[in-house]
Amino acid sequence: MNDVGGGILIAPTDLKEVIYPWLKGAKEYDFTDIKEGLRLHLNESPYPPPDFVLEAVTRYLKAGNRYQHPDLSKRFRELAAEYNGVEPDEIFPTTGGDGAIRSVFYNFTQPGDVVLSNYPGYSMYSVYSSFRGLREERVNLREAGDWWQEDMDSLLSKADRSRLVVIDDPNNPTGSPMLQANEDKIKALAERVKGIVLLDEAYYEFSGYTASKLVSKYPNLVIVRTLSKAFSLASFRVGYLIADREIVKVLEKGSTPFDVPLPSLIAGITALERPSYAREIASEISGNREYLYRALKSVGLKVYKSVTNFLFFKYGGDLLSPLLKRGIAIRNPIKDFYRVTVGTKEQCDIFVKELGEIIEDSNTEQR
Ligand code: PMP
Repeated sequence: MNDVGGGILIAPTDLKEVIYPWLKGAKEYDFTDIKEGLRLHLNESPYPPPDFVLEAVTRYLKAGNRYQHPDLSKRFRELAAEYNGVEPDEIFPTTGGDGAIRSVFYNFTQPGDVVLSNYPGYSMYSVYSSFRGLREERVNLREAGDWWQEDMDSLLSKADRSRLVVIDDPNNPTGSPMLQANEDKIKALAERVKGIVLLDEAYYEFSGYTASKLVSKYPNLVIVRTLSKAFSLASFRVGYLIADREIVKVLEKGSTPFDVPLPSLIAGITALERPSYAREIASEISGNREYLYRALKSVGLKVYKSVTNFLFFKYGGDLLSPLLKRGIAIRNPIKDFYRVTVGTKEQCDIFVKELGEIIEDSNTEQR
């Protein structure tokens, strides 16, 4: 603020001094979306939230004039702890998995620190890295038949220079399992890193493996979870971190028990009271995934196996625009590779039919 003589204070008009240099060059998330049509680009659940969750949320909406009682946050932590076989003080509720990832990037790193991850990996790690002024180091995944694999030697050799190692496990966009809760691998990373090992288990309900039990043994191991996928609650924005109680304590100091909005917290609590519906969705989607996998293979595509709710496949040409013209959105995370969310069986059929026609058309054009 400038004092211009008469005691009037005005804000500076030049923001050069106000906005840190790295913020100007920060990357952005690709928010491309469609309003109508087949959404197979964001790895959402194709099923609506269950009625019992919606009913509970509706009942609580009338209390929206009040800040929620901290006991609700406590209840969420107890349920998430029970679901994972950990202690309530090892749970930190967040606004979706992204809120969980952000809380680690924002509270446990500072500009100039090195953050290590796999490539390709979940795009938000790069977004938060650039926003926090971090130096990104990435280790390429290796194609191994029907799967993609992490390069453990390279990860370990870079971990001791890193403040944060973040691994999406299973990996997005390939759908492959990474460390698979292997204690030797996690221990080696946790011992080398100069900060935190963040395992992003957003797709845990599909993969079926988790390192949650290792949190009590390796205090710098932090796990991300979300109710956006198998629990069908993406836009409720509810997730959590599983971490050592001291880490949870720090995060609590930098937040309030009101950060997760009341409707989201109620949705989360009600869902975790009856988590069996998420297991049913995960099993249904996994069945559809195998169906879609075979269908994509039969169209002649190189498609990779997956332990998530999406599939990764290779195609050397543009699929995004012709699919969009037909009202279908998928993702093209790296050149010549596409990621498609597994929907209902009917949605899988529509996708394969349209895709088959597009590929056929482009073959005819090339002839
Ligand atoms: N991690 C990974 C690997 C993801 O793919 C996603 C969602 N695309 C998230 C975290 C975060 O999702 P949400 O914030 O909806 O929980």
